[in-house]
Amino acid sequence: MLRGQEWGSRVDSAAGGGADGAMALQPRPSPADPRNSFGGRSDALFRLYVASVIVFGGATVLYAATRLRLSELSHLGPAFWLVCGLLLFGELRPLFTSGARDSNGLLVSTAFVYALVLRYGLPVALVVASIVTALIDTGKRKAWWRTAFNIGQYGLAWSAAGTVAGWFGATGSPSHPAQLAAGQLVGAAAGGVVYFVLNQGLVTRAVSLKSGIGWWQLSKPDLAYEALTNGALIALAPLIVIAVDRGVAFVPLLVPPLVAVYKVASQAIVSEQQAMTDPLTGLPNRKLLALRTQEALDDPGSGTVALLLFDLDRFKEVNDTLGHHVGDRLLQVVGQRLSHAVKSTDTVARLGGDEFALLLVGGDGVDGSEGAAAAAVRLRAEIAAPIVLEGLLVDVGASVGVAVSPADGMDLDTLLRRADVAMYLAKETGTGVESYDGDRDRNSPSRLAMLGELRVALATDQLELHYQPTADLLTGAVVGVEALVRWRHPARGLLPPDDFVPLAERSGLIHALTAWVLDHAVAQLAVWRATGLELAMAVNVSVKDLSGGQLADQVAACLARHDVSASTLLLEVTEGSLFADPVRAAATLHQLDAMGVMLSLDDFGTGYSSLGQLRRLPVCEVKVDRSFVQRMQADPRDRAIVASIIDLALGLGMTVVAEGVEDQPTWELLAAMGCDRAQGWLLSRAGPAQVLTPWLVARSGLSPRRPVSPASEPGAAPSPAR
Ligand code: C2E
Ligand code: CA
Ligand code: CA
Repeated sequence: MLRGQEWGSRVDSAAGGGADGAMALQPRPSPADPRNSFGGRSDALFRLYVASVIVFGGATVLYAATRLRLSELSHLGPAFWLVCGLLLFGELRPLFTSGARDSNGLLVSTAFVYALVLRYGLPVALVVASIVTALIDTGKRKAWWRTAFNIGQYGLAWSAAGTVAGWFGATGSPSHPAQLAAGQLVGAAAGGVVYFVLNQGLVTRAVSLKSGIGWWQLSKPDLAYEALTNGALIALAPLIVIAVDRGVAFVPLLVPPLVAVYKVASQAIVSEQQAMTDPLTGLPNRKLLALRTQEALDDPGSGTVALLLFDLDRFKEVNDTLGHHVGDRLLQVVGQRLSHAVKSTDTVARLGGDEFALLLVGGDGVDGSEGAAAAAVRLRAEIAAPIVLEGLLVDVGASVGVAVSPADGMDLDTLLRRADVAMYLAKETGTGVESYDGDRDRNSPSRLAMLGELRVALATDQLELHYQPTADLLTGAVVGVEALVRWRHPARGLLPPDDFVPLAERSGLIHALTAWVLDHAVAQLAVWRATGLELAMAVNVSVKDLSGGQLADQVAACLARHDVSASTLLLEVTEGSLFADPVRAAATLHQLDAMGVMLSLDDFGTGYSSLGQLRRLPVCEVKVDRSFVQRMQADPRDRAIVASIIDLALGLGMTVVAEGVEDQPTWELLAAMGCDRAQGWLLSRAGPAQVLTPWLVARSGLSPRRPVSPASEPGAAPSPAR
């Protein structure tokens, strides 16, 4: 093929601008193609290589030109010009197939050039091909050295091919056609193979020297495809020769099959394009993003590569309340806004749902993490402008996570994962934009290994529940227990929840964990209630459970399975978790409330809930965070905070529980302040059911041997290790 394998076409397509043939996948303008410059990063070896190809290949072409005999040229009839015309046409309409922009165009002109070699001899073919290349490259405004390289490259490749075919007597001259018999066909095939190998080798070597990527690594992925398409075109050349010799009328007969091949190939490209784009927004999908990212990472010239992950903040709300068609429209608008706000060389992709990704490659604006974060802030503002949908003014914000290569990773998966971590942080903290920070990543490699272990732990019952009682502050009667999960790790012993619950929350494993805890806690509740212990069971649920959308169904199924009344189950949610995704959280809470499940606000005082928000949520209990309770004796300000939380909750008709009560004076102070209940080591530490059951039985009065006493006997309470 003339230039399907050439340096220029690879480089054009890599820059996205070579697709002037209308068939390119996602053609992009490349106003200032950096690869037109010979200097910059190209090292001496690359220059030497290009120069050698230009000199030796150019010499071959010049030598061929000197061997043209004017007398011979008079034998060039209309069939020759027809072949030249078809060659030119093929050159002008390359087919680009792969979504990877460094794919090579498929040029049907290869068949015509080789036909010229076989029918009219090497000198004529080389001169025609050089002229055509010079014309087309000039039209494309390629740098002179690239055009020269292309001419030199096929000068070498076709000369070798023509020489080999000539040994078999397969080449002719303008006045004397070669007699193509079986032996000559073998020669033509051998020449074709030589052409393919040499041409492929020359181009790949140039790209390899320029990019620093191994020669074989570059060739391997496309080799089978290249061999097949080039093989087909080379096989066509002898048929063109036969047609030429039969008479000019036969040459056009070759056009329909070529058109058919062309059409089929373009159809394949269209399907490939469809496989690489998101149908709703028309943006590249994850697959294409992966290809583009890999290309950028492999290209040493691309500098910093940044991946920005966008997650819309209120998409589900819009989708649920205004309907899917409005949601779809919203996604389209956001996609448009993003693509208009970035350079044409950047890639905006939709990853699915309300997640968009943006690949920023090097150059202006993206020098390192700071540049990328600045771009993220700008784009976030772009998305945040209100959108009119169905006559309504809709406001959607986005949270953006930024990961930058090489600092944060060298492959798409790592970058995506880390951008995701940053994005969650941005959502959680409400900052909107966060760059990945290894120190704040709870998913470091050891954590990731732990995640795998946790999955196993869930499946093999390495988790266990400890229960900590809550008692009435006035009577000392135990009213309920809270289930607190632990992990009996085979190597590291008993791990507290803080060591693995946050990890589960970041990975989605939290849903399985919550399901496990719920099931075991409710099962234990059923056992206790069957023995006459009238307890309530408190279970901690995570922020992710509240926005996951399955919690209410999960709880209902669990209660039914164990035949336990909803009113004996108390779900504890932290104050902070209500505001990460307030709409979904409130929806889940209302569903649970409607089922009769009780809801408790955990760690109260540490978040930012306002009175009004408290009132609107169907919460029946507030747990004062233990940090305030524990400092209450020492610090009057903490005492004031506890007092006001108690007043507030009582005023709203809620039960108040103080956590972390470790000593008798605190207990008494809380009782005097009107607090309802207490939980803490003074009463009992958390312990497994077999330890806690006898203690509960004794306290409940079920056992006649032990009277119900105020919770003033810390020595008497079992103190299972936390
Ligand atoms: P939390 O819900 O605030 O649970 C109370 C924590 O305080 C427990 O720690 C408990 O052992 C500890 N504690 C109880 N009384 C005292 C006391 O008098 N003094 C002191 N210093 N500490 C006391 P634990 O078990 O390590 O749990 C830590 C947190 O882990 C919990 O805080 C809860 O947020 C979370 N967690 C525990 N189990 C689960 C679970 O099954 N699911 C989820 N999502 N989170 C859980
Ligand atoms: Ca709790
Ligand atoms: Ca708490």
